[in-house]
Amino acid sequence: MKNEPVIVIVGGGAAGISAAYHLIDEAAKHQPMPRMTIYVVESRPRIGAGNAYEADWETNLMNTRAGVISPVAGDPGHFLRWTQANTAVWKDQFPGWRVAADSFVPRPMLGLYLEHLFMETCRQALRCGSRVIPVHAEVVDLDVNGPNDLLVKTASNLTIRANHVILCQGHLPSREMGDLLAEPGVFVTPYPVRRVARSIDRTAEVGLIGSRLSAVDAMLGLAAAGHQGRIHVFSRSGRLPSVRGTQERYTPRIMTLDAVRQMVAAKGKLRLADMVGLVRAEIELAEGPGFDFASFFAPAPDPLTFLDREIEAAGQPRMWQAVLYASNAILEYAWHHMVEADKERFARDHFSHYIAFRVSIPVENAIRMRDLIRDGRVQVHAGPVAIEPRGADGRFRIVGDGAGEVTAVDTVIGCLGTPRDATKLDSPLLERLFAKGIARPDRFGGIQVDHGTGYVRGAGGVARDDLAAIGDLTAGTHFFTSVLEVLARHARLRAEAIVGSVAQAASGRVEKAPVRQAAAV
Ligand SMILES: Cc1cc2nc3c(=O)[nH]c(=O)nc-3n(C[C@H](O)[C@H](O)[C@H](O)COP(=O)(O)OP(=O)(O)OC[C@H]3O[C@@H](n4cnc5c(N)ncnc54)[C@H](O)[C@@H]3O)c2cc1C
Repeated sequence: MKNEPVIVIVGGGAAGISAAYHLIDEAAKHQPMPRMTIYVVESRPRIGAGNAYEADWETNLMNTRAGVISPVAGDPGHFLRWTQANTAVWKDQFPGWRVAADSFVPRPMLGLYLEHLFMETCRQALRCGSRVIPVHAEVVDLDVNGPNDLLVKTASNLTIRANHVILCQGHLPSREMGDLLAEPGVFVTPYPVRRVARSIDRTAEVGLIGSRLSAVDAMLGLAAAGHQGRIHVFSRSGRLPSVRGTQERYTPRIMTLDAVRQMVAAKGKLRLADMVGLVRAEIELAEGPGFDFASFFAPAPDPLTFLDREIEAAGQPRMWQAVLYASNAILEYAWHHMVEADKERFARDHFSHYIAFRVSIPVENAIRMRDLIRDGRVQVHAGPVAIEPRGADGRFRIVGDGAGEVTAVDTVIGCLGTPRDATKLDSPLLERLFAKGIARPDRFGGIQVDHGTGYVRGAGGVARDDLAAIGDLTAGTHFFTSVLEVLARHARLRAEAIVGSVAQAASGRVEKAPVRQAAAV
């Protein structure tokens, strides 16, 4: 066992579990089977759920239907099959639930599944002569001794010498709320909602900063916990997420990877207008005659009208959603080949609208939210948001609508998600990587990685082939990484490359394994 290659996965959420699974799965395809030691280092007490699927209230619903949730690339039914074969495992914790292909299950149920998948991966590794070892620690530093010789250091003074490291740090906390964070009564994230709800006085007036999925989780969780104080939602656009219709998956006919490749071949670089044209043509085809594209994107006059319309529409197929979902297959490639100025324009002016349409919520949560707004228990404010520190009366003042009106609240909860700007992420490890020139921020989000291989680029833009990243840290390169399907595809590609190189090294050949390019390239 002494000279077995060592792989360290930093982060044991969905991406880390998917990476461990695919490394072992990939090893089993080789003859002879390479033996590896894989450490999964996770700072939380449990390995599997990560931030996205941690133990919390059942009001935190998945926004993907159970039939297509999977951290296993190419096997969309993996989670559903697990729920069917392991009812006894999850039924105790989720007694009121029946899981079918079209269900939106509580996210903690996925966390439980990921914990089980991790344990199964550990067992499978042993059967294959490898080892997957959980380590409960925070990775805070990394030293480079030489190629395929990295020292991974944890806050608990453990050092692991690794041949390959995969960063799967996921949704890192934000520093965006700056000095306010030190104030009692300020929460940087609404998660776990049950813990936040317990820490807040039931009659407190609450300000949620942000109006996307995490704000929906926060308001519904607080309401379910019997919160009585008014909840204010502040965001620049005031837009709430759209609501999922009844449609199944869709196979594009116009917006295909071949079509985008042909455009790139003909023009060299893509313009934003090229992509908008392609997506629009596909939506019009999928929706059929009579679909009015222009008025479709027009904002509703107020949140209640918006939700009423969305809830009504959710009873039918909404093919535009299926088209946007299917765009996962081309966006990564299209983004890579887009003119930089257009990328900048999209990131600055359109990204937040795109996300409001792309990431939708289940209708049951939309109905709960509409009822809260209708009853006056939730109020949505649109406009630039400014928060003043706690005043003499113990309250925070939030300027949060275009008219400059000030709202006083007792508690502030950040629902901003993970900032794309990596310098705003609260991660000692990233700070060290930036300081040492091992990684550098990507102007469009996360850290710079090579588009084809996922290897991290350091000073001088050079990608080293022993340090890879998967997930949100690669958002600037891969564009949309906040979905399990994309993480799983990347995890498999990274695993293929690493196991390929490990197998070659084991066979005595010195050359590096050819790295397969991302499927979409
Ligand atoms: C609230 C929420 C809801 C979502 N809902 C859906 C959905 O319904 N469907 C879908 O497909 N996708 C959803 N997503 C998208 C999500 O990005 C992916 O599905 C996936 O769960 C992300 O997994 P991850 O491992 O990259 O990140 P995370 O879940 O954030 O896990 C990262 C892990 O790394 C650990 N970590 C970080 N740094 C270190 C370090 N230095 N040392 C040790 N450990 C470290 C963290 O503690 C954490 O456990 C959701 C995301 C969020 C945030």
